[in-house]
Amino acid sequence: MELLNRRTLLKTAAASGAAAALLPSLAHASASGTELFTSDEAGLLVDSTVILGEKSAVLIDAQFTAGNAGLLADMIAATGRTLESILITHIHPDHILGLPVLLDRFPQAKAYAQTDIQGILSQILGGMHGQIAGAAPAGVFADRFVVPEALSADHILLEGERIEILPPMAGDTALITPVHIPSLNTLIATDIAYIDTHLWMEEVAASGTDAWRASVETLRAIGAKTVIPGHRKTASPNDASVFDATIAYLDHWEKARAASANAEEFRAKLLVGTEDLGFAFAIDRGVAAAFPA
Ligand SMILES: [Zn+2]
Repeated sequence: MELLNRRTLLKTAAASGAAAALLPSLAHASASGTELFTSDEAGLLVDSTVILGEKSAVLIDAQFTAGNAGLLADMIAATGRTLESILITHIHPDHILGLPVLLDRFPQAKAYAQTDIQGILSQILGGMHGQIAGAAPAGVFADRFVVPEALSADHILLEGERIEILPPMAGDTALITPVHIPSLNTLIATDIAYIDTHLWMEEVAASGTDAWRASVETLRAIGAKTVIPGHRKTASPNDASVFDATIAYLDHWEKARAASANAEEFRAKLLVGTEDLGFAFAIDRGVAAAFPA
């Protein structure tokens, strides 16, 4: 079975000779074969991608707050597909704390993370959940956490189509697995690319941005038409321009940092020209990491 894309859809419709009858039933499927959910600012503008087969679906990343995860679950339910798998692309809480909400709604689904990433999650997820959920009013976050299963394979199958899980590479954290769906000409860059938001710089403040930049170029070279970033605003583009936006922000950040003597100066320089970006929550942590008190 093929994943749904416009060509498949038209081919199928033409072959059946029942385009008019077929199209309405598939109207909820986007032409690209994926549906995107972008959280609100409280959920840190994080993207989750639902990859649609004819009857089944795979979800990439599971949201941060319980509210956003619930809305994502509604969106998945509306596709009419059975959710089979959920892949968590890296260890950050904004991509995994919503997982129990999704598993409650879709108990048949299995959650996975690449083996190395899963190993870290199994060590830190409990502490991370306790710290974040414990500091928030009841109900903002799921009241439990779920460690995904380790996935050693380099792909997930959706109705026989390969969803390629790329080897871990560096972005806003050291190990991230982007996802490539060749049959849809689509790349899910997750937190290696951002657009129209600030970037999470805390973990690269010490190590520098070279490894992150190299990952951007690795992904850009794949040449996918649709590129879904980790964080964006709902109306932001999903194409190769997310790579340019990411590099531009890294350049801006490093230039501002090099020209600053202290945290206050750095913060002021960082905010010039970036006033309209979302995910402002990232600023303080990045500045503090660059200029520790
Ligand atoms: Zn993120």
